[in-house]
Amino acid sequence: MFYTVEKSGVKYLKSDILEHDNLIHAFSSRIGGNTPVPLNSFSLGTAGMMELKNHIENNRKKICDVLEIDYSKIINPEQKHTDNIKIVKTQYDNVSNTDGIITSEKGLVILLLFADCVPIILYAPKEKVLGVIHAGWRGTAKKIAGKAISLFESEFNVSPNSVKVAIGAAIGQCCYPVSAEIYLELKNTIISNYDNIFRNIEDSDKVKVDLKMLNSQQLQESGVQEIDILKDCTSCNNSLFYSYRADNGQTGRHGAIVSLR
Ligand SMILES: [Zn+2]
Repeated sequence: MFYTVEKSGVKYLKSDILEHDNLIHAFSSRIGGNTPVPLNSFSLGTAGMMELKNHIENNRKKICDVLEIDYSKIINPEQKHTDNIKIVKTQYDNVSNTDGIITSEKGLVILLLFADCVPIILYAPKEKVLGVIHAGWRGTAKKIAGKAISLFESEFNVSPNSVKVAIGAAIGQCCYPVSAEIYLELKNTIISNYDNIFRNIEDSDKVKVDLKMLNSQQLQESGVQEIDILKDCTSCNNSLFYSYRADNGQTGRHGAIVSLR
């Protein structure tokens, strides 16, 4: 179950599935900071508006203070809608062209940014390995979440059924029609549960997709058993979350932030 926390004016969400002594995590919202319109008010990414860099840094410092983690240890990869996942050991590691980070190092602060795409946090409590994934339709089509599970297994000897996964706010099936071509590409990534994930639109060859449930299905087919999904649609809840679609591309970024201690 997800629940909302409000501290020093910052509103963020947590999943009880990720409640462990060694893990600090948060899915941020757009509430609690000082970024001006259209990035109001708690954007953790510039979204290309470099003139707002100082505001973004202040917001990042604020969430780090709230979570009691080290701002100077932030790793924020250059997300490119790929299925590239990097295993990092220090905050100086190269994370260009990267849409997933995995680490077992204490103290690093992993931050990935979102505005409709699916934020996924993975954690293996026994082995103390964590991962954060950015899955838009392109990453989902490449099964980036399943790829993360394979890396947990091959690089850290973690069994898929001991990985706990929380999937945060993303665009819902209600607001996410895709072309027939993309639909087929996405459909080919799973072997069951199509009826819940895809919905035909009357008099159209477009199909509405539940990207969160699709990623959950991929993870289940990779052997993951414990998955918590936040129901909120970023577009329908545009006052609480950033939505690229609802804001016509002019919007900020909320974050998935995690750190091992
Ligand atoms: Zn919606």
